[in-house]
Amino acid sequence: MQAVPQGHTLVVGLGVSGWAIARHLTRQARPFMVADTRQSPPGLEAFRAAFPGVEIHCGRLDEIDASRAVEIVVSPGVDPRSPGLARYWQATLEGAPGMPRVIGEIALFAGACRAPIAAITGANAKSTVTTLLGEMARQSGKRVAVGGNLGIAALDLLAECPDAELYVLELSSFQLETTPRLGAATAAFLNLSEDHLDRHGDMAGYRAAKLAIFRGAEHAVVNAEDHLTWPDDVDLPVSRFTTRPPQPEEWGIAESGSEAAREPWLMHGEVPIMAVREMRLAGRHNQANGLAAMAMGERLGLSHEAMVRVLKRFAGLPHRGELVAEAHGIRWINDSKGTNVGATLAAIAGLGPTLGGRLIWLGGGMGKAADFTPLAEPLARHAREAVVFGADAARLAQALAGHVAITRCDDLKAAMARAGDIAEPGDCVLLSPACASLDQFSNYQARGEAFRAGAAAWLQTFDQQE
Ligand code: ADP
Repeated sequence: MQAVPQGHTLVVGLGVSGWAIARHLTRQARPFMVADTRQSPPGLEAFRAAFPGVEIHCGRLDEIDASRAVEIVVSPGVDPRSPGLARYWQATLEGAPGMPRVIGEIALFAGACRAPIAAITGANAKSTVTTLLGEMARQSGKRVAVGGNLGIAALDLLAECPDAELYVLELSSFQLETTPRLGAATAAFLNLSEDHLDRHGDMAGYRAAKLAIFRGAEHAVVNAEDHLTWPDDVDLPVSRFTTRPPQPEEWGIAESGSEAAREPWLMHGEVPIMAVREMRLAGRHNQANGLAAMAMGERLGLSHEAMVRVLKRFAGLPHRGELVAEAHGIRWINDSKGTNVGATLAAIAGLGPTLGGRLIWLGGGMGKAADFTPLAEPLARHAREAVVFGADAARLAQALAGHVAITRCDDLKAAMARAGDIAEPGDCVLLSPACASLDQFSNYQARGEAFRAGAAAWLQTFDQQE
């Protein structure tokens, strides 16, 4: 059995995070060894070239004796309960002495970061709120670095932006469960709905992983309408957001404006901040996202003026409710990042008022053991057809049967062909799959690009028929 040399850190996983961890440990002059369960992980030769002399183990983790490692640093894609790690993970959770702790890249980040951290988690809307808050801080004149689960890995941010006055991080449940203490200046838990149950086991496990964002935090931002996002620590100062009229101190939405022109406004308690109409992002869910970003921004001392300016111009990230084609009264919307049921419900509810029952919904892929039945009612209300595809198409069709017309297709291409055949003026073709893409694509971006290309091809054939 191969042993981790005395005094070395064991890095597990040779992906994007593994590289970032390796670079960080190198900068800190800490010796380390790397392990990956795959026999020949992609990028292995490049890694050897970049880190000459670093020992690498490829294959089962229980073939390594890590008992003399200083620490075991796992990548977010690696389950700390997997064979070879489980006993160290158990010891970490129990605080057992004499065994190496299992931690993740964000724990290393928290240990090395000298500027305030604003951290964002949730089942959905993390990237949108992270980007909004980063833009708001920049607009307020702060030197800000934005990354984590989005864009640049957290540890690389430290190297690339060493003089940042604020780090804004999107964090996944996988990253948080291996972070013993983040110590954020403000931390937001946006919402909780089923996702990743294949790894966390149940909702309680998923929630517990996300609640780790509040460990050592000075301030929390939570969803007033979702008490599962609330921290257990009662002493932590909390700001709540809601899309309803707010209680005093809450962020919410209420009628405001002049007597002659009452309309919905984003509010902080009694204080009107801006008319919802002036926000560039559409949909109730995005109004919630704007409020959450402002609640964090306020705590960080950002000016209202700067925050409002960002909400007026921010048009959204690609693959999140993105209009990719519109012709002959038919809209094609790419929400490929809708990778779980909660996201798809929000996308449909956000579009709802504009749909008039004319939705053609495209969904499917890998369902991560989720329950699809919550989709049945909104689809019955808003959709004229559900076109399901991919690995979990049969399970989706079963959950929706009797509520909406269903067509089953093998893949996205066939689903788009079906949508193109039936689409008529007034229809909206929405890809918000409620599933991961990995059965047929390398990631959600590739799926979204395939949708974009398919919509462009549809536009062309349509034009040729004219
Ligand atoms: P994440 O980084 O958590 O995946 P994103 O900002 O990328 O979040 O948005 C992912 C998807 O979540 C969007 O495509 C949309 O379908 C959905 N979504 C956006 N905002 C919300 C919200 N406030 N509540 C629920 N779902 C949302």
